[in-house]
Amino acid sequence: MKINVTQPLQPDREMFHNYVDEILDSGWLTNRGKCVRALEKRLQSYLGVRNVVLVSNGTLALQVAFRALELTGEVITSPFTFIATASAAKWEGLDVIFSDIDAKTLNLSCEHVEQKITSKTSAIMPVHVFGNPCEVLDFERLAGERNLKVIYDAAHAFAVRLNGESIMNWGDISILSFHATKLFHTIEGGALIINDDSVCSKVRKMINFGFNEEGIPERLGINAKMNEFQAAMGLCLLENIDSAIEKRAEMVTLYDALLPKGIRRQQWTRGASKNCAYYPVVFDSEEETQQVQNALNSGNIFPRRYFYPSLDTLNFITEGQNAPVSRDISRRILCLPLFADLTASEVERIIKIISQALKE
Ligand SMILES: *Cc1c(COP(=O)(O)O)cnc(C)c1O
Repeated sequence: MKINVTQPLQPDREMFHNYVDEILDSGWLTNRGKCVRALEKRLQSYLGVRNVVLVSNGTLALQVAFRALELTGEVITSPFTFIATASAAKWEGLDVIFSDIDAKTLNLSCEHVEQKITSKTSAIMPVHVFGNPCEVLDFERLAGERNLKVIYDAAHAFAVRLNGESIMNWGDISILSFHATKLFHTIEGGALIINDDSVCSKVRKMINFGFNEEGIPERLGINAKMNEFQAAMGLCLLENIDSAIEKRAEMVTLYDALLPKGIRRQQWTRGASKNCAYYPVVFDSEEETQQVQNALNSGNIFPRRYFYPSLDTLNFITEGQNAPVSRDISRRILCLPLFADLTASEVERIIKIISQALKE
């Protein structure tokens, strides 16, 4: 049996079918229908945030966020993230400036970011990598001092709390991805989490061609709407998301206890909850990493080199930048399989193969 790095969370079939019937019977398939409105409300309460605006994917959430905050010039972000963080900014005509990460937390280091600020910088875009909260207090202070916007790419950080409060309440906007491979998903989908109500009402127009409540185009917009079937998937999955996270947490405990001692893990931020979205491990060398990957592949197990490559190496995003820590980590990291239906015996098999490969 093949084991992939992840497996999409499945809804209760009967519940999903009932939603599909209801949607089809109503004849209202998209354009902020009943399911989208219900999911926005339920996510606001589940996450503990003020405004959730659902969109068709996480990349569009980023693009809309840049426009809503009227960013120009340079945006400082992490080279150790999924390509969309940087490519969405580049796509929107912004210059992407990479600042290096901290080798332990794998997040942007605020200290390094400060050195990258120029007169052209309009925003900082930290990423809560693998769901691990960034130094939000430091970024808030820095952004305040330098009059910059802060957008958090929180695509990995669904349900994560810092000192009991949603991590998504920090910054001007946080974005989420609800792609099928993410912890919680709507097949394809995403969201903007916005504290300021006036920014939120602007975003609601922007994602629907710029239409106001009367259906008159009032500003420049795009089509970024989530449809009813996507939202129905979300409504089904939200019912069982806590038990899915608990099941992942049990497998994380097993990995933690049984993996060979020398393997490094991400240092988690103090006071932050864990959503168990990923299980990254860092090896001593790229050679060792590939050795482990090959051994697992031979056993029909497919971890992912995530993130690889470091984005500062991509010349269509940027040229002449160098983030040595990110480059080094990206060559030595693997995300091990982790999903709600992964079993203890599968985790034990994975660990056995890794231990064996490291002895060779
Ligand atoms: C998945 C992901 C995105 C993009 O989201 P999509 O919904 O796939 O467009 C952006 N940033 C990060 C860090 C991601 O992991």
